Amino acid sequence: MHQDLEKVLITKEEIEAKVKEIAAELDRDYAGKQPLMLCILKGSVLFFSDIIRAMQIPLEIDFMAISSYGAGTTSGEVKLVKDLDRSIENKHVVIVEDIVDTGHTLFYLKRMLNQRHPASIKVCALLDKFERREADVVADYKAFDIANEFVVGYGLDYAQKYRNLPEIGVLKREIYEK
Ligand code: 5GP
Repeated sequence: MHQDLEKVLITKEEIEAKVKEIAAELDRDYAGKQPLMLCILKGSVLFFSDIIRAMQIPLEIDFMAISSYGAGTTSGEVKLVKDLDRSIENKHVVIVEDIVDTGHTLFYLKRMLNQRHPASIKVCALLDKFERREADVVADYKAFDIANEFVVGYGLDYAQKYRNLPEIGVLKREIYEK
């Protein structure tokens, strides 16, 4: 375990097993549809690359980067930092997100993408903090439910660090109270 972690919540092995399960579900559900797998940068980058690698059906990928307007915002407004390269019209889009917390980010994102007339939009989330949900959104595919704790690792950061940890864990208090 990394020295800055207080505990590991989800191990590398648990993540690997779950990724395989979800990839198999996606393979089944999207057979013959060539889904557009959409990576929401940066947090979902590891989950995304593992999921698409475990999928066997033909698929496309694209990337989008968004950021919230200031910490703790509840307006739901998020800023588009990098847009998709190509049109999603008539495509079956699967948004791959790191974590659904209040749900505002995803709500905004789905609304924006829906205006571009995709054939369908579904959400595949690594983590779901359902206790914190404020917006009316659900993860159609989800790897793990977690309690209301701030987590890092496997793509998730604290001040841009810890994204490369292979597991998901909770930081020691002294790290963010420094
Ligand atoms: P929401 O709009 O659902 O409240 O926020 C979603 C975003 O907040 C996530 O995509 C993620 O970037 C960030 N976030 C929420 N909870 C956590 C957490 O426990 N750890 C980290 N590193 N980021 C989080």
